[in-house]
Formats: sequence, structure tokens, C-alpha cells
Amino acid sequence: MNKTYDVIVIGLGGMGSAAVYHLAARGKRVLGLDRNAAVHDLGSSHGGSRIIRQAYHEDVHYVPLVQRSYELWRQLEQDSGADLLRITGGLLLGSLDSSVVSGSLLSAREHGLSHELLGPADLRRRFPVLKPRETDHAVFETNAGFVRPEAAVRAHLESAERLGADLHFEEPMVRWHVHASGAVQVITNVAKYEADRVVFAPGAWAPEILSGLGVSLQVRRHVMCWFQPTDRFEAFLPESFPVYVWQVDADRIFYGFPAIDGPTGGVKAAIHSGGEACTPESIRRAVLEKDVEEIREYLGEYIPSLNGPMNRASVCMYTLTPDENFVVAAHPVFPQISVACGFSGHGFKFTPVIGEILADLATHGSTQHPIEFLGPDRFEKASTRP
Ligand SMILES: Cc1cc2nc3c(=O)[nH]c(=O)nc-3n(C[C@H](O)[C@H](O)[C@H](O)COP(=O)(O)OP(=O)(O)OC[C@H]3O[C@@H](n4cnc5c(N)ncnc54)[C@H](O)[C@@H]3O)c2cc1C
Repeated sequence: MNKTYDVIVIGLGGMGSAAVYHLAARGKRVLGLDRNAAVHDLGSSHGGSRIIRQAYHEDVHYVPLVQRSYELWRQLEQDSGADLLRITGGLLLGSLDSSVVSGSLLSAREHGLSHELLGPADLRRRFPVLKPRETDHAVFETNAGFVRPEAAVRAHLESAERLGADLHFEEPMVRWHVHASGAVQVITNVAKYEADRVVFAPGAWAPEILSGLGVSLQVRRHVMCWFQPTDRFEAFLPESFPVYVWQVDADRIFYGFPAIDGPTGGVKAAIHSGGEACTPESIRRAVLEKDVEEIREYLGEYIPSLNGPMNRASVCMYTLTPDENFVVAAHPVFPQISVACGFSGHGFKFTPVIGEILADLATHGSTQHPIEFLGPDRFEKASTRP
């Protein structure tokens, strides 16, 4: 016989782990399913650190959502005892008319966020390991920093289980079906379950699972590398070195973190733009010499003392919508289903607020959070195909 739940959540990575936590906290009977093991490195939520910032250059509409995220990160730290969010300040760099600098400035001014606008001489003085060009400026955002993705997913999952959620790992959903009654049946490799509501948060598996949504989703391979500075290690410590996003021209952005893993842990840097198109099945998991060289080209020019030996590297996936904004909404055809996908390379900082929104949608069918700009209806029309 089918086991029945109030809500089933498909995918327990960044977004799904937050959704099961918020649903369980509201007393819902919730089942979470993941095709992989708990806190794995085969999707999009691994690699030790994720930038969090409020002066949002991508779109000013994200600001209230990320502000709520900060509150929820601190609450989750209290509930779980885990160390998740650290404020280091953040530099958003590029020419004054670059989208990173002009967009960050717009969000900072519109929302009264604490920031400074720095020119190339200020940058060289305050952050001597950086080599800005004469045209480079930066918005320094005081409250930016980083989140620990693995610890965050673990904290959400463990807290959800403590609150009574059933979580099944290495149990992929293979099919789903909406009954005439409106209930949703979810079929896995080993069992069948039923629920009034279902939440889909399948990360890079979304193009296949949510093909009926009418949103074109593209998955791209991105490599993170950890380098050992050649000198001035202390200049990379979080007390003196912030997180940064550096737009070097219209199509090229790289970013990185301070030395957050001790003297031998390396300092993470990566490229945000580009990335090879792939699927979770076809992706090249091994790191190639060429991947590392591409990152070194940026470091050699802009942060030369970070261009030392490589400690380690890891491969991750971005899932991109055509405008690189997320999709978070009730399914356009099946209102009992909510979807959360297309988080691109900037979704992790939002995971707790997305969890809260998904719990709102699965509980009341709507949310007070301003998510209209994340609806799938901004693209083509959805089909009725699951
Ligand atoms: C290199 C890199 C750097 C990034 N940097 C930042 C950053 O600095 N700041 C930031 O905010 N964001 C950043 N991001 C983006 C952010 O990490 C992602 O947007 C976010 O992790 C996506 O979470 P998710 O829940 O959608 O996907 P995931 O965490 O991958 O979760 C999806 C889950 O669904 C499961 N699943 C799939 N299919 C099924 C099925 N059929 N049945 C059951 N389970 C299934 C998968 O196993 C997986 O666990 C970065 C991403 C990458 C790759």
C-alpha cells in the first residue's frame, strides 16, 4: 500500500533540505527523497564555501529575499549549533559601468545597504594583493561574507529529522503522477508514496524532471580550485581579505574567498562565466589541466601572489534559466506542486528563504515573499506534460 504524507520533497540538496526543515517545523508529515547520499558532491551544493551578499547586482528584487536569508541563517545556527555564516565584507569589482559594479551600487543605494565605492588606488592600499587596472572600481559591501554549504545542508537535514521528517537517501524518484482526486503519487526505485502536495527541488536534474515546465534550463560544468599563496599568506586571512566577484569584461567574471581553511587548506578561486554544457550523467568529473590554467590566467593578472601550487579542485554544476534568475513558484498546471530550480551560480545564499517559501506554497498555496519575478510564466507557456 502507498504510504501517505502531507508533502513529499524531491531532492535534498541546498533547496530541498531547507524545504523539509521548514515543513517539518510547521508540523507537516513530510517525506524527503534524494537519489544520492546525504550531503554529497555530485550536484551543486558542495565545495566548502558560498558567497553571500546583499548589494545584489543581478536584480534589486533579490535584496529582501537575501535579507530574510541572513535572519534564517542565524536562526539555523542557533537551532543546530553549526557554524554556517561568516561576515568578511565583499568586493564587487569591475569598471564603473560593468553590471557587477553598477548593479551592486543600485541595490546598495536603493536599500540603504552599508557600502563604500573604492577606486583603484583605494583598492591597492587596502588590499595590497589585488592588482586592479586603472579602470577598476569596487563596491565594498560591509555585510557580505560566506556560507558553508555542506554544513548548511547537514544542519537543515538533521534539524528536519529531529522534527519528525522521513528522509530517504539513495532512493531516486523515477515517476510521478497526479490522481483525479488531486493527490500526487511519487514512484521511486523501491516504493510508491502519496501526498497532497509535492515540492520539486532537483537541481541539475531539473531539465529532465521538470521538462513540462516550459522553461529552457541549461546545465554547465564549473570548476573550483584551491591555491596556496606564493607569499603574504596572512594578507589572505578573512580578517584582512574579503570575498570578491570581479568582472573583467562584459562576459568574464571570476570570484573567490579568503583563506578560510587554515594555512594548508588553500584559498579558493573560480570562474563564474562560461562553463561547458553538460548533464549530471555526461559531466566530466575529473579536473583537467586546462580547467586549472583558465583560473590561473585570472590570478596571474589580478591576484598574482595567489597563483601558487594547487591544493585541490572540485567540479560543480550550474543550472541556468535563459535570464539566469531562479524559478520558484507553484507549477502552472498543477497547483499542488511547487518547483524550485534554475538557481544558476548564485542560489546557495538563498536556501533558507527558499525553504520557507516552498513551505508557504505547500502549506497555503501562496507566500508573502515577493517572488513574482521568479515565476516560470516570464518564459514560454508550460505544457500539461509532467
Ligand atoms: C562552483 C559553484 C559555485 C557557486 N557559488 C555560489 C556562491 O558563491 N553563492 C551562491 O549563493 N551560490 C553559489 N552557487 C550556486 C548554488 O550553490 C546553487 O544554486 C545551489 O546549490 C543549488 O541548490 P539545489 O538544491 O538546486 O541543487 P542541489 O543542491 O544539487 O540539490 C538537488 C538534489 O536533487 C537530487 N535529485 C535529483 N534528481 C532526483 C530524483 N529523481 N529523485 C530524488 N532526488 C533527486 C540530487 O541528488 C541533489 O541532491 C555555486 C554553484 C557552483 C556549482
